[in-house]
Amino acid sequence: MAVVDSQNKVQNDIDIDGKLTIMTLGSHCSLQVLKGAKDEGFETLLVCDEKRVDMYKRFKFIDHLISVKSFNEITNADFQTDLITRFNPILIPHGTLISTLDMAALENIKIPIFGNKWILRWESDRVLKQQLMNESDMHSPIQLESKHEIDGLCIVKLHGAAGGKGYFLVTNRKEFEDQARLLIESKTIRSEEDLFIQKYANGVPVYLQYFYSPINNELELLGIDRRYETDIDAIGRIPSKYQLSATIEPSYTVVGNIPIVLRESLLPEVYSMGERFVNASRKLVPPGIPGPFCIEGVYDNNANFTAFEFSARIVAGTNLYISGSPYSDLLYDVPMSMGRRIALEINKAKDLSKIELVTT
Ligand code: AMP
Repeated sequence: MAVVDSQNKVQNDIDIDGKLTIMTLGSHCSLQVLKGAKDEGFETLLVCDEKRVDMYKRFKFIDHLISVKSFNEITNADFQTDLITRFNPILIPHGTLISTLDMAALENIKIPIFGNKWILRWESDRVLKQQLMNESDMHSPIQLESKHEIDGLCIVKLHGAAGGKGYFLVTNRKEFEDQARLLIESKTIRSEEDLFIQKYANGVPVYLQYFYSPINNELELLGIDRRYETDIDAIGRIPSKYQLSATIEPSYTVVGNIPIVLRESLLPEVYSMGERFVNASRKLVPPGIPGPFCIEGVYDNNANFTAFEFSARIVAGTNLYISGSPYSDLLYDVPMSMGRRIALEINKAKDLSKIELVTT
């Protein structure tokens, strides 16, 4: 039976007494998510591009593999009904789901989604994103209202979760217009309005991987990473005497992740920032942020943190910690990946008949 939640939005059918299947799309962090689900005793289901079936078949913890020509097939109502009837699934959202589907299509998916699917719109829309970061009292870079305000180093971003793809640096209006024209010509964007200009925050990048449990009412820090980005991380490999760095236009496309542990003295503010984010999301986007999220930013030379982004779901940087991280090891006696932590929460919610606290 459909349930209406506090926002008057219809929640999806789920048979909580039946056997649940953990489902995700074959990309991003799907291996980690399904391995974690299997470790917690769930059946697993992967919806995957037909070209990747052979690769995913190598992993025995994937019980069911459904191949599609395009991930957009998941928006088809008959396809969803079939999956619901056969598997009683909970869908774990990740970056690929967000970058593939438009938000209305994602919100209309009938399969129960782990976490708060309404907050994913706040991640994708930069204006909403900034509102949530302000409400969380995060120190974040100044957002420029227009290209006429560009004065000094700025980073220009596209909307959505594209892993830093298409970002560029500018120091004045002309550089902005030149780069924007290239993106319009390549049909990456429709107009300059699709771009978002932020002051460049100087420092070393750090990505904080959290999990908030509405069942325990507790915030956990489960891992920390930084991204390995081409070709901004390649430029430092060219000795300055070759002066190539002046001619290479840096890009920020993520190709991998590198583990980090922070100085312990920085952790109190890390937890406090995470708590503020949990409270702000509960206030602005009920039911808040059940499950994983990530706050992304840089530490400057005074070890002060500037947050330039958040992800309101599992991030691919958690793939580093399939066998647990230095932080999850302090909390759990078994290797606790983010994928496994999600499955553990679903198990607890099911046992307590509180599945509505962790799905939308
Ligand atoms: P994002 O997709 O927003 O996490 O950003 C991708 C990459 O762009 C980050 O990992 C940083 O290297 C860089 N970046 C994003 N925003 C800023 C900023 N305001 N200042 C400096 N670097 C940034």
